[in-house]
Amino acid sequence: MSCLFCKIIEGSIPSTAVYQDERCYAFADIAPQAPVHVLVTPREHIASMEATTEAHRALLGHLLWVATEIAHTKGLAKGYRLVINTGPEGGQTVDHLHVHLLGGRTLHWPPG
Ligand code: AMP
Ligand code: ZN
Repeated sequence: MSCLFCKIIEGSIPSTAVYQDERCYAFADIAPQAPVHVLVTPREHIASMEATTEAHRALLGHLLWVATEIAHTKGLAKGYRLVINTGPEGGQTVDHLHVHLLGGRTLHWPPG
């Protein structure tokens, strides 16, 4: 198994856990782009949004719900951003689906 995030989820590569349950694992991004930068990943290896099917609908909803719960626990009452980079032109660099939670500063739009 060569997937970086699968190794993080199983614990063979260290990470700073933020939240976990039977379906997902959330951890601090190693190169934070905002004061709060958390990655929410499914425990199941799914390469990207393009690899999802209708069978993943509930899991995808769960990932967004967990990201929002983390935003609340981090005190991001003034706002935050959830991002799922998808594919090379979408800026995805790790091929294991993940939701970025970014907050704690003013985020600009459009992104680069
Ligand atoms: P993306 O570019 O959307 O695929 O996001 C991948 C994210 O994973 C980037 O924000 C990286 O900083 C982050 N990342 C890469 N390696 C690690 C690691 N070992 N621990 C935590 N975050 C990582
Ligand atoms: Zn994986």
